[in-house]
Amino acid sequence: MAVLDILHHPDPRLRCVAAPVETVDGDVRALADDLLETMYASRGIGLAAVQVGIAKRVIVVDVSPERNAPLALVNPRVADARDPAEFEEGCLSVPGVYETVSRSARVRVEALDRDGGEVSIEAEGTLAACLQHEIDHLDGRLFVDYLSRLKRERIRKRAIKRMREAAA
Ligand code: ZN
Repeated sequence: MAVLDILHHPDPRLRCVAAPVETVDGDVRALADDLLETMYASRGIGLAAVQVGIAKRVIVVDVSPERNAPLALVNPRVADARDPAEFEEGCLSVPGVYETVSRSARVRVEALDRDGGEVSIEAEGTLAACLQHEIDHLDGRLFVDYLSRLKRERIRKRAIKRMREAAA
């Protein structure tokens, strides 16, 4: 297991559309383990492979307060979404930014688990928001995309400034 480097907005690699996983093999399980370790090390509640520069449809989440309910999903997709709701969100790829995003309060997500078995998850609340957020990453979408143009531009400029300062 390894803690991987997380890409930061506006890195163009965060915009790639990830490819479906054809076989859930040892490599995919190792990737899921690395994503979990990276997520826990960063105190996040979710992480997508795209965020570490790997364009495969793999996500991990854990919204439990005890940090003991890891979920690794391969090829996840939102099969059903109901009831609009607003969530306060942040993202490990957009550090320091927290904004309200409109999503669905309840979703059903279909995916493969780490053994390649089919799973269907009924989620609501924070887990529903987190799953929608992570699945968005697999399509190159960030939560800031849902904000107004003015806010997006301000966040992008701040991110570029932060990156320049980190490089200097
Ligand atoms: Zn994110």
